[in-house]
Amino acid sequence: MPELAPYAVNDSSSRGRVVAEPRPKARSEFQRDRDRIIHSTAFRRLEYKTQVFVNHEGDLFRTRLTHSIEVAQIARSIARALRLNDDLTEAIALAHDLGHTPFGHAGQDALNDCMQAHGGFEHNLQSLRIVDRLEERYGAFDGLNLMFETREGILKHCSPARARELGELGLRFLDGRRPSLEAQICNLADEIAYNNHDVDDGLRSGLLTLEQIGEMSLFARHAAEADAEFPHISGRRRVHETIRRMIDAQVTDLLAESARRIATAAPQALADVHAAPALIAFTDAMKAENRALKGFLRDHLYQHYQVLRMTAKARRIISELFDAFVSDPRLLPPQYQEMAATESVTRATADYIAGMTDRYSTKEHRRLFSVGEL
Ligand code: MG
Repeated sequence: MPELAPYAVNDSSSRGRVVAEPRPKARSEFQRDRDRIIHSTAFRRLEYKTQVFVNHEGDLFRTRLTHSIEVAQIARSIARALRLNDDLTEAIALAHDLGHTPFGHAGQDALNDCMQAHGGFEHNLQSLRIVDRLEERYGAFDGLNLMFETREGILKHCSPARARELGELGLRFLDGRRPSLEAQICNLADEIAYNNHDVDDGLRSGLLTLEQIGEMSLFARHAAEADAEFPHISGRRRVHETIRRMIDAQVTDLLAESARRIATAAPQALADVHAAPALIAFTDAMKAENRALKGFLRDHLYQHYQVLRMTAKARRIISELFDAFVSDPRLLPPQYQEMAATESVTRATADYIAGMTDRYSTKEHRRLFSVGEL
């Protein structure tokens, strides 16, 4: 493996863990973080949480788990090509969606509405809350006690008010510094992953048509390339040949532009990365194509009436669960009643609901509202 760049995060330049621990014997500190994330309960729950399509709608659509694995794959490749810490990159990517509610963004919006007067709900902050606090696996501490840079990478955005509560971790949001390049990579790898897999899932579901997506230059250009190389293929095989070219073009573009920016800024150490403007980036041309694709997906897939029906149902389930627990906290499982006593009923309820999978929340809703259901 090539040596890490001098501005990459490494074990010795890290700000370390909140609770000091002996160094791992046969792994780096960031490999240990990745391993802790994979073994967490929140990570396993991602298998049954919606990305766009609810889990029971089909066996082949992405879930939060397969999405996170695809983000990790793309992010690792980029990190390695730029001689950055790919273990840290993988850890951040695998953890980036741990705090997602059931039913994707509809669930998060509903829970955020419920929590409006109680500090709000944001899946990004919830991911951090899970790894810092909610996982119960270790005798010596709550949460996973991850390295500072892993936690920093998980916390993508944050309001100034929240940042002030987060101490050292929130500082960069107050003084305008950038996170590590490894964290910046995860952000854009997330975008590459969902833009492409949502096109794939959208076409597979039949909610998007090839005619519609053909209006997108990114898709049309790579479909034409696939047709030129393999004139005899059609259907799913042609879609995959197109999408893999789209991913490759986006990654290649990002690598070239980021290498150019790194060469110009010439960081000598991690501190220079924090002070520099964003160094991991697409070219303006690719950024524009990505923005167009994102807008297309919003208009034709995320706002498709069949997706909106699911969204409406999800909002109802989440807000009814929230109201039921907050109006009578005795209905909460004992561990959340304890949490309610030390924090607040609303925060404990948000933690409980956010941790639910799609099907668990649906079942819990039936248990609370359907007569005859146990
Ligand atoms: Mg994501």
